[in-house]
Amino acid sequence: MQDSDASCHVAIIGAGPYGLAAAAHLRARKVETRIFGEPMEFWKRNMPRGMFLRSSPNASNLDDPDGLLGLDRYRALHGVPHTRPLPLEDFVRYGLWFQQRAAPDVDRRRVTFLAERAGGFHVRLEDGEEFPARRVVVATGIGPFARRPGQFAGLPASLVSHSVDHGDLRQFAGQRLVVVGAGQSALESAALLHEAGAEVEVVARAPRIAWLVDAPQRVSVVGAARQFFSPIVRPPFDIMGPRIVSWLIAWPRVFRRSPRALQDFLTARAVRPAAAGWLVPRLASVRITTGCTIAAATPTGSQLRLRLGDGTERLVDHMLLATGYRVDASGYSFLAPTLRQALRTHDGYPELGVGFESSVPGLHFLGTAAADTFGPLCRFVVGTRYAGRALAGYITGLGGNGHARAALPRADGLLAARNGSPGA
Ligand SMILES: Cc1cc2nc3c(=O)[nH]c(=O)nc-3n(C[C@H](O)[C@H](O)[C@H](O)COP(=O)(O)OP(=O)(O)OC[C@H]3O[C@@H](n4cnc5c(N)ncnc54)[C@H](O)[C@@H]3O)c2cc1C
Repeated sequence: MQDSDASCHVAIIGAGPYGLAAAAHLRARKVETRIFGEPMEFWKRNMPRGMFLRSSPNASNLDDPDGLLGLDRYRALHGVPHTRPLPLEDFVRYGLWFQQRAAPDVDRRRVTFLAERAGGFHVRLEDGEEFPARRVVVATGIGPFARRPGQFAGLPASLVSHSVDHGDLRQFAGQRLVVVGAGQSALESAALLHEAGAEVEVVARAPRIAWLVDAPQRVSVVGAARQFFSPIVRPPFDIMGPRIVSWLIAWPRVFRRSPRALQDFLTARAVRPAAAGWLVPRLASVRITTGCTIAAATPTGSQLRLRLGDGTERLVDHMLLATGYRVDASGYSFLAPTLRQALRTHDGYPELGVGFESSVPGLHFLGTAAADTFGPLCRFVVGTRYAGRALAGYITGLGGNGHARAALPRADGLLAARNGSPGA
């Protein structure tokens, strides 16, 4: 273990879209910042090769303060065609281009331990280096929170895995698989498996698959009026749920102040399992069994015998769980036990206040971990547009819109802030 004198004002843990956007905004405001983690790692290693983004290109920008590092600019500079949907590989290259410009000095080491100390935090890296930081921003994504139903816990990884475990599904070519789930990840994994030469069936508990298909333009007065007003009534980002829901969640600051019942309603509508309409033709010859659960899974030689809720059976080589993610703050392995205890949570999510600050003053959470407080926008790349600004504005004592905020015991008054209530 070696002590480093390279203390910093803000340590960002995570170099995905949220960590990189946060670094861009903090550095633009001259806040001394160090950022850790493998850039775009989750997108490079934990999403399947050949995948397309479900979010539209206009909702796939990593945010920077001057608006100079958008996806369109990257595509124009590099002659990347404006395809829609956006290929994963293009998005990863765009993210790395953004990183080179916004945070070229990303430190690729992992943070293994984080504890409180007088005046801030104590950060330890994987090689044992330690240093103090006044503030810490956790932007480590959803990787550790893959939801694996308990009933399959004892089964070997050769027979059951989660979609997060794979960066390439071609290893299953020639095998027979069941994919469990009804969302984008399940349906797109099934399409990729089918195209790779696997025999695949999707099994979903949902009564039907919700396909996200653009409404056809009707040739009528109503249709013409809709087309005319479309640019005005269209929500700012077209990635989530019905139009009215997209409008209501487009402002995380408003979401935070909304009554819990409304927040729960909007979240349920915005994040229900659904799959992009462009997958329909790719799945034309894939069997999709809906309204059915996996009642039992029993290893049989090198295969897995599945009993479905409808009483039928399948013998497969592998079961792929595309059963989503569930944030549980106690799952942040690098948090010292005292920090975990001090962290107030709701339904597993850290409770956050203004500036994404948790109940531990100086400790901030970005990305999906912030979705319980700031809404479903934080689950998607598009949320960097709000998060980076709000975080940097808070830390420097300025509002996200640049207006000065009064009497913030921030940058140099961490201990003072501890006596106050976070999230005021
Ligand atoms: C299959 C799939 C498809 C998706 N498609 C879309 C889409 O089309 N559009 C969209 O907007 N969103 C999509 N998402 C959601 C997407 O994951 C998030 O929008 C996005 O990744 C959030 O960025 P992030 O920075 O919070 O986390 P991540 O991208 O997961 O980045 C986390 C970073 O933290 C680092 N890290 C983790 N632990 C440590 C540690 N201990 N020390 C140092 N660094 C650490 C990692 O190396 C990584 O750099 C998809 C998710 C999945 C699973």
